[in-house]
Amino acid sequence: MSDKLLNGKNSIVTGGSKGIGLAIVKAFLGAGSSVEYLSRSKADDHASLEALAAGNGVTVRWTTCDVTDEASVEAVLEAAVARGPIDVVINNAGVTRDGLIFRMTLEDWKAVIDTNLTSAFLVSRTAARHMIKRRAGSIVNVSSVVGIMGNGGQTNYAASKAGLIGFTKSLAREVASRGVRVNAVAPGFVETAMTEKIPGEARDKLKASIPLGRTAAPEEIASVVLFLASDMASYITGEVVKIDGGMGM
Ligand code: NAP
Repeated sequence: MSDKLLNGKNSIVTGGSKGIGLAIVKAFLGAGSSVEYLSRSKADDHASLEALAAGNGVTVRWTTCDVTDEASVEAVLEAAVARGPIDVVINNAGVTRDGLIFRMTLEDWKAVIDTNLTSAFLVSRTAARHMIKRRAGSIVNVSSVVGIMGNGGQTNYAASKAGLIGFTKSLAREVASRGVRVNAVAPGFVETAMTEKIPGEARDKLKASIPLGRTAAPEEIASVVLFLASDMASYITGEVVKIDGGMGM
């Protein structure tokens, strides 16, 4: 018997090529899960992921997939199911296209909703069908504290992340009786490529609004996602866990 949290499991992580998704891939490999990550580009350090996987007796696979594309998501998920059971799905892929509403184009709106919200619907639809047949599975959606609190300049992003919370709770209710759990995390300010572009002054202001007084490392999000995905959280479903240094309390 191994005490690894995801021993022998198979997980799918969207947006695993960098940032929070990459940290989740690493945490899951370390926790004994084989991982397939979906993104448009491969992780820069994919070779080190392979080494980490080998060291933990599991596998890592990158599959190119635009998660907004229905046909490719279905093909990728069906191929994964054909290879073996899917135990865990993490809907993490996300983008921002910030701007005040007066300057926001319909394209900016749709791109963010499609990538951050519709993708979770597409991936979960196929995965949940498979999970309910097996009467087991765990889905974790990566929302944001912005989906709870709102944020000027991010109407599209906040709507997508608030939508993910409603999606999480509704799907959790649909599949709970079949032994499948669905939860979300709502990170605050995490140091990744997504937040790199925030200018210095805005960054300082944001930091000042965080009771813990600092931003998060991607690994601090991955550890909570790992907990929710695992049987340690076997009695938690429909929950949204804020990981924000106290920002949203
Ligand atoms: P990031 O470093 O920019 O990574 C985003 C990931 O999403 C990449 O792996 C990217 O891969 C993937 N992605 C984007 N569009 C995609 C598409 N159409 N198809 C497939 N994959 C796609 O961002 P991050 O900060 O790690 O964000 C990860 C998640 O956390 C997002 O949902 C974000 O909204 C959420 N979040 C972040 C923060 C923060 O402060 N950073 C706070 C709260 C929530 P490719 O480019 O290779 O496709």
